[in-house]
Parts: sequence; C-alpha cells; structure tokens
Amino acid sequence: MFRVTAGRRLAKEASSIAARSFSTTPYMRAAEVKKLGVIGAGQMGLGIALVAAQRAGVPVTLVDNSQASLDKGLKFADKLLAKDVAKERITQETADKVRAMLTPSTTLDAMSDVDFVIEAVPEIPDLKARIFADLAQICPQHTILATNTSSISITKIAAATTKDPRDLSISSRVISTHFMNPVPVQKGVEIITGLQTSQSTIDTTMEFMKRMGKIPARSADAPGFLANRILMPYINEAIFCLENGVGKKEDIDSIMKYGTNVPMGPLTLADFIGIDTCLAIMNVLHQETGDSKYRPAGLLKKMVDAGWLGKKSGKGFYDY
Ligand code: NAD
Repeated sequence: MFRVTAGRRLAKEASSIAARSFSTTPYMRAAEVKKLGVIGAGQMGLGIALVAAQRAGVPVTLVDNSQASLDKGLKFADKLLAKDVAKERITQETADKVRAMLTPSTTLDAMSDVDFVIEAVPEIPDLKARIFADLAQICPQHTILATNTSSISITKIAAATTKDPRDLSISSRVISTHFMNPVPVQKGVEIITGLQTSQSTIDTTMEFMKRMGKIPARSADAPGFLANRILMPYINEAIFCLENGVGKKEDIDSIMKYGTNVPMGPLTLADFIGIDTCLAIMNVLHQETGDSKYRPAGLLKKMVDAGWLGKKSGKGFYDY
C-alpha cells in the first residue's frame, strides 16, 4: 500500500515538475513530426525505420556506426519491400518511394534536424547513456528522444542528458518506445515513462505510435516493464516444468499452443527470442526486485553455458 501511494506521489511530483520545466521548451504534436531519426540499423532499428516511412510517411535518417550494418539493414529493407510488392500489398512505385525516404548515415550529427529520435543500439547501459548525452547536444530543442531498451531504466537514461538533475528541459523529453519483434508484424508497443518524462512528451509519443499503425500501451519504469515481466516468468516456468519432468518439451508447447490459443508454445518462443536474451531478462527481474520468484531455471543457465541460444545458433530446445 505504502509503495503504491509513494509511487503515485512521486509520479505526480515528477509530472508537475516536468510540466513546469517543459513550459520553457516548445510543445510539438505528433502531426508535426516531419522527420524521424533512428539510431542502430539492426533487427529492431531497421524495422522501426521501415514502418515509420511506410505507415507514418515520415522520412527517416538511419544512423549506425558500422557501414556494414547499414548496408545489411538496407538490403533487408529492399527484401521486405520486394516481398510486399510480390504479394500485391503495395505497388512498385510505393516501394520505391518508401525506400527513398530512408537516408543512411554513419554519424550522429545527422540527428541535428529530426523531430523524433528512436535509439535501437545494443542493450549496453553505458553505450545508451553516451548516445543520449550526445543527442542532448545535437538535437533541436523540441525533439523527443526515445529508446527501445528492453530492460534499462528510462529514468537513468534520461538522467544522462544533463549534468544538472534540476534541469528537466531535455530529460522531460526522454521516453521509451519498446517495439516488439518483428516490428513490421507486431502491433503492440510499450510506452515507458521515466520520472522526468513530461505529459506532453507522452501525448505526442502515443499519437506518433498510432501514426505508425501501432497500438501503444503504457507501462511504468519498473524492472522488465510490462511485456517482459509477464512473458519471461511464463517462459521460465515452462523451463522449470521441463527440467523437473512435469512434461516433455513437445507436450509443454502443445498444451499452451492449442490450449491457450497462442501462436507458438513457450519453449519454441524462447528459441525465437534467444535463450541468452531470456536469461538476461530473468537476471534483471531477479536482481532488481530481489524476489526469488524470478530466479532463472537451472536449465536456462546451462543452455546459455552450452551455447544453445535458440534459432540464431542453430540449437535451442529444438534443432534448426
Ligand atoms: P542489433 O544488434 O540487431 O542492432 C544494433 C545495431 O546498433 C547494430 O547494427 C550496431 O552496428 C548498431 N550500433 C552499435 N553501436 C552503435 C553506436 N554507437 N551508434 C550507432 N549504432 C550503433 O540489436 P537489436 O536486436 O536491434 O536490439 C536493439 C535494441 O532493441 C536493444 O536495446 C534491445 O534490447 C532492444 N529490443 C530488442 C528486441 C529483439 O527481439 N531483438 C525486442 C525489443 C527490444
């Protein structure tokens, strides 16, 4: 009870502080997002850039520090667009138009004229903090700075944008847009706010996600946010069932797939997500809450030690 009350009070304080500080910076509506910046042209970043160009019709500057990653990402965009043309979902003319809206760059300075940034670099806290500190210097005063982090605190990332924690002029514009994989397919996106995030940043972000054809859901800045806090213990429990002999892998997947109407069973899903990713998220939940209900299953740890990381390594619960 105390935690809820204290949490509400903190959230209220933060939003009123943010609102006050934000009054010094221009408010932008989602319709005014004329240019998007995406940082990281990997699995997630490329998907986000493509969906923004295709659905929201905004030009995208796609930054990656590796030219090879940019080339690989854009080649993948070509493949996805060609598939859409082949299936007659879009015309060749539309595909060419969308492709022309993606401008690659290897320098973060290219973010100097964007209205909204979505960062999708690897899940390394120091790397994200450094990028947000740089964005604070590079981006215009109205730009919303979003991260696609799976587990890092948004409050911490926002704090990296300033040396003076009382100055909320930039940190109030930091938020998380946690897209789901694969981005062009999954409609849901989690919107996570830090202690510093202002209401206008939330409103613009929610609207912009809708412009991208997504269905946004709000989550507080808590370990695992909503999606992983619910999904990962479910997968972990399936692994406990397997190692304790409650069921065989095929039976565990079968009863959940055909008994609860999900597209695939939890062990197959773990193989698709990556066994190492599942372990990393369970570790975050366990360490940050201190609650033993989130302890990772022994078999999950052993599979990571063995290098059986799921589909990407050719072996997980199943062989690929
Ligand atoms: P990825 O490894 O596929 O792509 C990361 C990209 O960032 C690479 O192309 C890399 O070259 C680039 N990069 C690295 N350092 C950089 C820098 N300093 N500046 C610019 N670019 C840089 O990773 P991903 O799977 O796309 O994950 C990105 C983020 O999205 C992570 O925070 C991850 O936790 C999160 N996420 C991933 C998934 C998923 O299923 N893969 C789902 C939701 C969220």
